[in-house]
Formats: sequence, structure tokens, C-alpha cells
Amino acid sequence: MYNIPHMASSQEIFVANWKQSGTKREAIAFVRAMQEARNLLTEEKLIIVCPPLKSLDFVEQSIADRQLPIAVGIQDIDVNVFKGEKNTGAQSPELLKDSATYVIVGHSETRRNNNLTDQDVADKVKVALNAGLKPIVCVEEINQARKLKEILGNYEGIVAYEPPSAIGTGNAANPQSANEVAREVKSILPSTRVLYGGSVDGKNIRGFIEQDSIDGVLVGNKSLDASFFTNILENA
Ligand code: PEP
Repeated sequence: MYNIPHMASSQEIFVANWKQSGTKREAIAFVRAMQEARNLLTEEKLIIVCPPLKSLDFVEQSIADRQLPIAVGIQDIDVNVFKGEKNTGAQSPELLKDSATYVIVGHSETRRNNNLTDQDVADKVKVALNAGLKPIVCVEEINQARKLKEILGNYEGIVAYEPPSAIGTGNAANPQSANEVAREVKSILPSTRVLYGGSVDGKNIRGFIEQDSIDGVLVGNKSLDASFFTNILENA
């Protein structure tokens, strides 16, 4: 029986956000490379791969076929499709949960592109939790964590601190400054595990992972090409 890995309190967390990339060919190359790098997929690491919806089933099945300890997530949820209506062209929670355990919520790009308010992001967290999906809530700055607390009360789960200036720019934040923000997030939401995201690569990973309040990383550009991603796992 294939066991989907779940979060343990001491694990370092590595989220691979493939965004719009990940054709079948790219996905299979990634999964094969992960199989070859099986020694890096230790119990101390929780690895969560978030492909685009198009490749979701395929990626989940390929991982399950190889019994790899890698969890799968989706990159966003649409609150409306979780209202129980049957809408043409929409994805139901049952369909998504068939293949995904986690969901990225409130990524900087989705906040910006869809003019999401903090209330919208909190609503997404609620519907995700109600549907049995585990949210990875992205915040761009500490105020968004405060709003989350105000709206949801004590959210327990994963938060990813992703300063927009660092996302996809090659200019990662200073690890000590990121750690200060992560510490503050934990003082506001004590039951969270806090990730850093923004231009993480094999060279800077150690600087982030060794910070006392940072529990892992969310990786974009360097997450689909397995040679980059395994380099991050190796150097963590
Ligand atoms: C992201 O997409 O959330 C991200 C952190 O991207 P990158 O690693 O490319 O900065």
C-alpha cells in the first residue's frame, strides 16, 4: 500500500511550485530523477510537489507507482467550486482530493492577478480545510499573517513567507531577515510551520534551512528541473 507522506513536527518541508510548467515529459523526467535520488528522500524531509492541474493526476500516479515518499498539492483553489454546486468546467473537491493532499493558497501572483483580499485568502483556507486539503498559506509580509489570525483565529498549518521582491528574481532575501519574519509569524500564529520562498537554489538553501524559525522552503524556478531540485535537497 502506498502511504502518502504527512507532516511531522520536526520535518524540513520542501514545496516544489511548478506554476504553469510540467508537461508529461517533464513530469516523468522529474519523477524518474527523484527515484534515482531516493536516498535524498529521507524521513526528515517532507517533499510536496505542486504541478499544474493538467498534470496533477499523472504526477500523482507516477509517484504512487514508484512508491516515492512525495506528497502532491494543487496551486490554488476556487472558492466557488467548493460551494457544492455542479458547474460545467469546474473542479470539485472530490476530484482534487483524489490526487492532492496540499493546496497553495494566496500566492503573491494569485493575490495580485485576482485582486484577492485577505478575506478572500482566508475563505480559501476555510474551504480547503473543510474539503480536507491542507493549506500552504503564502504571505508577502507580516501584516498578511496578522489578518489571517484576525479572520481565522488560530490557524494551524503551513505558512510560506514570500517577499515579492524575491519571487522569481534571483534576489533571495537575507536569511536572517527572513528568519525574523518567520519568528514573528510564529508569535502571531504559534501552531504554524513557516517556510521561506523566493529565489531559493542549491547555493543559498543552507542559509535558510539553518535558521531557527524557518521550517523549510517553497521553490519555484528551481523546482521542476530535477537537477536543481535535488541539488537543493542535497545541500539542505
Ligand atoms: C514561487 O513561485 O513561489 C517562488 C518562490 O518562485 P522562485 O523560487 O522562482 O522565486
